[in-house]
Amino acid sequence: MTLPEKLKQNHTLEDSELKKLLKCGDYDYELFELADSVRREHYGTSVFIRGLIEFTNFCRNNCYYCGIRRDNRNAERYRLELPQIMECCAQGYSLGYRTFVLQGGEDPVYWDSGMTEIICSVKTKYPDCAVTVSAGERPEKIYREWRNAGADRYLLRHETATESHYSQIHPPELSLKKRIACLYSLKELGFQIGAGFMVGSPYQTLDNIIADLRFLQELKPDMAGIGPFIHHRDTPFADFPDGNVELTLRLIAVIRLMLPYILLPATTALGTLDPQGREKGLKAGANVVMPNLSPVVVRKKYSLYENKICTGEEAAECSGCLKKRIEAAGYQMDFSRGDVIR
Ligand code: SAH
Repeated sequence: MTLPEKLKQNHTLEDSELKKLLKCGDYDYELFELADSVRREHYGTSVFIRGLIEFTNFCRNNCYYCGIRRDNRNAERYRLELPQIMECCAQGYSLGYRTFVLQGGEDPVYWDSGMTEIICSVKTKYPDCAVTVSAGERPEKIYREWRNAGADRYLLRHETATESHYSQIHPPELSLKKRIACLYSLKELGFQIGAGFMVGSPYQTLDNIIADLRFLQELKPDMAGIGPFIHHRDTPFADFPDGNVELTLRLIAVIRLMLPYILLPATTALGTLDPQGREKGLKAGANVVMPNLSPVVVRKKYSLYENKICTGEEAAECSGCLKKRIEAAGYQMDFSRGDVIR
């Protein structure tokens, strides 16, 4: 049996075998084909659409890789008010979107009740839609409040599952333990959860990546966000090289084979490093895309990394462009809520 087949049959691969799969392109053709076949068994050719609303770029944290880190004085800060957020949802709803992802920095103003009000408003107006929150680490009490307000899903990438690597890319006040505790408490509260990591983040080794895969196997999240690291000039990591597209694709495929039911986005970061990146991601096992619904005037300001794509187009244009891309790759946009199928 070849390594990709072995992975598909759910035989646990040894670390050394996983490394072999990831290290070079020798297995790519078979790996991507198998990943695509597994995705088709579970989800057909559906690509789930999530409308992304980047509602604030204020952040109390200082992650070394991120363009909206607290100490970046060049970041032009903005915060969407509730009516603007509702307007984004209205646009998305009319385009057919049934999931809204509210993503932002850890903005103290939107702590707690501000966020609760947003979730409540969206769920009351659009009870047929899923609301995903991606707003970082909060106390369990607050997560519970948001869950009670109607939030369905929560995205919190673990970033790296290796303690020492975590502290190489984050300031000392942030800890992997806390991040992981947040993920487990979100799961406990009944959120569909998403973890994930950057590929090629500074100092990352292949062993770190194996640890990330093992962590995902253990956590069994509903979603996993995997995208290449991309440098941002106003961060301590300005001079580090960007992550590798091929390796990112291999990881998407490996995760599809390890966790066949998982929801896996073809990320904007992947599309930023390679004009065909998202299409390649879909063909390697991804089944979600997250078009931007943020008002065009703020898009460039939500700058986690440089040269982010789709910052100039209106939501409808984005939607039309993605539809063409998805169909050209051999899949269809699926406008249902797109819950995980376990
Ligand atoms: N504050 C939220 C949302 C973070 S932004 C949170 O803490 O979860 C969403 C994701 O973008 C991050 O989890 C990180 O993995 C990714 N990201 C941040 N900076 C990046 C960069 N320079 N290149 C690629 N991805 C980046």
